[in-house]
Amino acid sequence: MPELFARVIIDISHEKVDRPFSYAIPESLREQIKAGCRVRIPFGSGNKERTGYVVGVSREAGYDRDKVKPVLGLVEGSVTAESQLIELAWWMKDRYGSTMNQALKTVLPVKQKVKGAEKKYIRCTLSPREFEEALKEAVKKKYRARIRLFEAFSSMPVIPYEAAVHQLGLTAASLKPLENSGAIVIEKENVYRDPAAGIKKNSLKAPSAKEETAQDGSVKELSRPQLNSEQQSIVQDFCHRYDAGERGISLIHGITGSGKTEVYMELIDHVRNRGKEVIVLIPEIALTYQTVMRFYKRFGQDVSFINSRLSAGERYDQFERAKQKEISIMIGPRSALFTPFRDLGLIIIDEEHEGAYKSDSSPRYHAREAAVFRAAQTKASLVLGSATPSVDSYEKALRGEYRLYTLNHRAKKDSHLAKVHVVDLREELREGNKSIFSRLLQEMMEERLRKGQQMMLFMNRRGYSNFISCRSCGEAVKCPHCDVTLTLHRDGRLMCHYCGYTTRKPVACPNCGSPYIAGFGTGTQKIQAMVEERFPGVSTLRMDLDTTSKKGGHEEILSAFGAGEAQILIGTQMIVKGHDFPNVTLVGVLAADTALYAPDFRCGERTFQLLTQAAGRAGRAGLPGDVVIQTYAPDHYSIQAAANQDYQMFFEREASFRRMLRYPPFCGLLTIQIASGREELLDASMGAVNKQAAQLSAGRRDICVIGPVHAPVYKVNDIYRKILYLKSENYDILIQIRNRLEELWDKAGFSEGASVQYDFT
Ligand code: ADP
Ligand code: ZN
Ligand code: ZN
Repeated sequence: MPELFARVIIDISHEKVDRPFSYAIPESLREQIKAGCRVRIPFGSGNKERTGYVVGVSREAGYDRDKVKPVLGLVEGSVTAESQLIELAWWMKDRYGSTMNQALKTVLPVKQKVKGAEKKYIRCTLSPREFEEALKEAVKKKYRARIRLFEAFSSMPVIPYEAAVHQLGLTAASLKPLENSGAIVIEKENVYRDPAAGIKKNSLKAPSAKEETAQDGSVKELSRPQLNSEQQSIVQDFCHRYDAGERGISLIHGITGSGKTEVYMELIDHVRNRGKEVIVLIPEIALTYQTVMRFYKRFGQDVSFINSRLSAGERYDQFERAKQKEISIMIGPRSALFTPFRDLGLIIIDEEHEGAYKSDSSPRYHAREAAVFRAAQTKASLVLGSATPSVDSYEKALRGEYRLYTLNHRAKKDSHLAKVHVVDLREELREGNKSIFSRLLQEMMEERLRKGQQMMLFMNRRGYSNFISCRSCGEAVKCPHCDVTLTLHRDGRLMCHYCGYTTRKPVACPNCGSPYIAGFGTGTQKIQAMVEERFPGVSTLRMDLDTTSKKGGHEEILSAFGAGEAQILIGTQMIVKGHDFPNVTLVGVLAADTALYAPDFRCGERTFQLLTQAAGRAGRAGLPGDVVIQTYAPDHYSIQAAANQDYQMFFEREASFRRMLRYPPFCGLLTIQIASGREELLDASMGAVNKQAAQLSAGRRDICVIGPVHAPVYKVNDIYRKILYLKSENYDILIQIRNRLEELWDKAGFSEGASVQYDFT
């Protein structure tokens, strides 16, 4: 039997993750050692026994075989959170084709060298008389720093250590004698950097979980609605199964506003009361002040949040709190999945259909798939929820792989689904209306303005004009670095939305010199200008990538709109994601087809989801709501299904289309994208990959190779991209082929000047 070697990291911190040590695996341990195991090993020149984590097993020693020491044994006892995460990293590396190092860096939090913010305070313990004497003595002896300290004490008995050092000029040495004599004590308070500190300060102090149960029940009942029968039956069924030891995956399909979040909170409570921990994934854009406060009010100090704006250190602190069992619930976007809980009992993924759950850097994992692995590994339940479940998840639910729960009614008694009107823009044009606002939408807007109600206008494109082109020669102004047209912004700049290139709008056509150049197509900025022109004096707010790029910009706009500072909110898809404004009674979707003809087999699904979510924004509290969907394709099933709020119809049409054309979830799809700044290298490397893929699939009817084709945008940032697709119902074969292609890639040395990216769907 060939020898096997374990790669072991001694301490989990990034520097060392890069450089694991090799140890020989003795015969007796061959079967048991795998990624994530804790092992005992001799370390350093003295061969002192240490423990470490196995991050990989291979046939190669890595360096001089004679110097490799043996693994001494396995560490008995409990599995740690780290070992589970390392095992997850191993799975991610295999599944998504990244290096183990990249996978480890994704799942393990960054360990900071600087310690967490440990706050220290100096407290004066002297009685007024003692104080007087001590001050006199300090003056006599001319201890200047001490005098400053005593002066400070006369107005505040407790001084932050930092302030004493920085503002009063004290040193540890000058404080020592005072501490020794008992005149002062230095108190330590280990405060974790709390990402929600700002929020909590403004609220009525978040109660701790203990306080809440101690309080009289009536307050609790007021803030917590009585679950309706639909909600109750889900909670009962889940809890019953949970207590019977049944785990598994459930999908809650509940229309917008049907009370999914209330259900999640009941499930969390149940699982937490059984001593287990919970991870809740919520897309970052939906993780608003409102949502955060809802969870704080219910779970107090037991819950923590992370978001992508936290520094590595802040994130590390939150993960540390989870490890120390100071919290039992972690809420956050994709990466919250890697919270190092030891006793995970439940993972919830809200808005499970969201594209943001897919990572776009290596490892290119999907949080939903990784959650399935983590739940199985930790024997936790997984609950997915959405008003518009992904085709993938719904198909699994219909097959019985996931348990399906449905919520068909809005939870609030006075809340009704909005009435949806589809307007055919071709018809409008025929009737002579060239405006971007259909006659119906204009009428409804006028009515809302009269009544003082609010509305949202949704346009899936930012900027002013989509592109500018020449009326003489027809040429559009393109980005010099990308195969796309430049977008005109209101300040007269032209901008590439792919690479960020910016230039001033030219006065004449760069192609023929004609002065007749003009903007075409419409973006959010232009809509805003048109609204202001059409309805003079009306107040508007705009929310898109341009207005939200600064920290907190997104939250600021939403709260201004919530406070009624504007009657019309105009924005890109950001405005349709889960925000709840009771006074909004009209939603206008200005161009529903923009997402429909994207070169992606999921574009029909995305359009349906967007329109359904948009429709869910209107009429949430008592006031009847209307939704106007303007489109050039009123008969498309995605638009029809969204207009009728009919998920079943959408799913059946979409599923039959994908089954017929063999797309996921009915077939595995491996996308291989090669990119290079040199076209000849791109062609050569793609040629070689294509040839190898053809050989590997020769004579096999279950694999199908498509392409190579140009990427939808062939050139981005001066890099050319081509794509090859491989389809098979057998995932394992696709993974095998990918592994062979990776070997070829390394051997041929294409990495010098080209890059390859594999993506599984
Ligand atoms: P979803 O997550 O499905 O969009 P939410 O849980 O946010 O739904 O509920 C929508 C609104 O209805 C919230 O304001 C919530 O407080 C309220 N709500 C939820 N369940 C009930 C209930 N059983 N009775 C009354 N109001 C409820
Ligand atoms: Zn021209
Ligand atoms: Zn560009």
